[in-house]
Amino acid sequence: MSNITVAESAGFCFGVDRAVQMVYNELEKGTKVATLGPIIHNQDVVNDMSERGARIVESVDELEPDETVVIRSHGVGREIYEQIRTKGNRMLDATCPFVSKIHKIVDRKTKEGCFILIAGDASHPEVQGIVGHCDENCLVFKDNFELKDFFQNREKNFKKTLAFVAQTTYNILVWEKCLKEIPENAPDIVIFDTICNATDARQTDARELAQRSDIMLVVGGRHSSNTVKLYEVCSRYCKTYHIENSEELRTLKLPSAENIGITAGASTPAYIIKEVQTKMAEIEKEMIQEEENFEELLDQSFKKIHTGEKVKGTVVAVNNTEAIVDLGTKHTGYVALDDLTDDASKKPEDIVSVGDEIELVVIKVNDAEGTAALSKRKVDEQAGYETIVKAKEEGTILEGVIQHVVNKGVTLNVLGVRVFIPASQTGLPRGAELEQLLKKKVEFMIIEVTEGRKRAVGSIRAVQNARKEEAKAKFWETAAVGDTFTGKIKSLTSFGAFVDLGGIDGMVHISELSWKRLKHPSEVVSVGDTLEVYIKELDKESNRISLGYKKAEDNPWEIFMNNYQVGDVVKATIVSTTSFGAFAQIIDGVDGLIHISQIADRKVENVKDVLSEGDEVDVKIIDIDADAKRISISIRALLEDNADDAE
Ligand code: SF4
Repeated sequence: MSNITVAESAGFCFGVDRAVQMVYNELEKGTKVATLGPIIHNQDVVNDMSERGARIVESVDELEPDETVVIRSHGVGREIYEQIRTKGNRMLDATCPFVSKIHKIVDRKTKEGCFILIAGDASHPEVQGIVGHCDENCLVFKDNFELKDFFQNREKNFKKTLAFVAQTTYNILVWEKCLKEIPENAPDIVIFDTICNATDARQTDARELAQRSDIMLVVGGRHSSNTVKLYEVCSRYCKTYHIENSEELRTLKLPSAENIGITAGASTPAYIIKEVQTKMAEIEKEMIQEEENFEELLDQSFKKIHTGEKVKGTVVAVNNTEAIVDLGTKHTGYVALDDLTDDASKKPEDIVSVGDEIELVVIKVNDAEGTAALSKRKVDEQAGYETIVKAKEEGTILEGVIQHVVNKGVTLNVLGVRVFIPASQTGLPRGAELEQLLKKKVEFMIIEVTEGRKRAVGSIRAVQNARKEEAKAKFWETAAVGDTFTGKIKSLTSFGAFVDLGGIDGMVHISELSWKRLKHPSEVVSVGDTLEVYIKELDKESNRISLGYKKAEDNPWEIFMNNYQVGDVVKATIVSTTSFGAFAQIIDGVDGLIHISQIADRKVENVKDVLSEGDEVDVKIIDIDADAKRISISIRALLEDNADDAE
């Protein structure tokens, strides 16, 4: 940032401030004010006064009777005072006391018969006012050259004493040069240095500030003599700009500068100086920002991109075959469909949209054409590969759809990485058709990664095993005697059936499969049958589970006891014979004994003479031993009953 310095003496001088205040005081009192010419050379102040009711008149003739006329700080000639007195208007004399002093000097010296030489601008109102006190006995000279001319051309018989005065705002340096043109110790010359101290101080300050500044801003009206002189002073030392207010700063093409000085003419209000200072700081800030932005843009536009480099870009257009990307460089980036995705079923618009900010890899740069071929797929593959590596390390279960059946396995694509699942890892039985997995969503784990080729080997079986282990752990954690399960019979042996309880196998002993006596489990169940079983015994240490299958309500003895009693006559089937009698099945699972003495109403020597296996006979239940679960049945008792009935 630049240093912006405002000259200490910049702005309203004593005389101008006094005149301005006089007008404002009158306006506040409600006086109808007319100023004889603009009160100061500052349009903003003049406009403000005008809005408050002050009127500018160029001559006394224009005055209205009730108007108070204000003589401005520049002062006026004797004639003007006379005109006002004649017209009768109230008058406020705001002539600066320093100017009034000049009037008095020239009045007196004129009366004394001197010729008045006035250093100044003949067209300036102050100078015209001074002239108005000289009875046309004067000469206005602009600078030392005109003064030199005067002395060279002075007629020999010109005998009057010369009295020198200067416009209050006269350039001091020029005044000094003028003094050098005046013959030294000439008895007929008197010099009055009437340059105002305020002007002197302002010009000195301005000069010193200009000497240490790179540019100077001189603020004041275009017609302000002292402002113009300040401009001239400063211009000798650095680039100087004359402005009337802060708005003009925008129209200037200011160069960048380390030190900026600001000074202002005697008729420039403090608030305008402040505005200029503030605006300058703002403009400077904007310039710095613009420079920085420009440099940034320039950097970007010349930024090189290289093949293999990872870049960021914003999608600016998407068509059927590619996406166009703004990389913030001079290159036009494009991503062909193949480089957007390896999924042939997708279009560019399925992958990216206008406005998306995406990461890309540069695959080819053509500086001559200003194009860059880019790949999103490679970035995705890299990210996918990193995810795959992490998944292997952490044993994460991934999901994917089987895409191809290849030699000795299947493949799928996850996050842009090709994963091969060997047939042995598919979870299918050996020799099974792998095609059955095509287009199927599967869960798998990564068991191997090939870094260089960014390939991976997966396993569905590993997931299945993991799930089993998980289920097993959960089973052993929660299982309790009495828990019921529905499971499929996995295999049969001579001593029982093995049931899959969901990752855990339990055995139903042959004696538990039926209430009947079985020779082999296959008599009642087959592999694949679904059984409802319950945990009968649990050995968590040896991981053994005994399952129960028979239900109490199916117990044949219970059924018998609930439905039969001593004295009932039933049909029974001979199931075996012995020397002491024959066993006959009353209901499924319940046999009764027909003792040899009860087979007939006569003596039987040999059971087999009367009964054979499979014979169906009517019998009477003659005794039930509930504790020993023994039933005695009799054909003879039934025969005797029938005989009694016949009698
Ligand atoms: Fe008065 Fe000096 Fe201001 Fe002029 S510059 S008005 S002489 S104070």
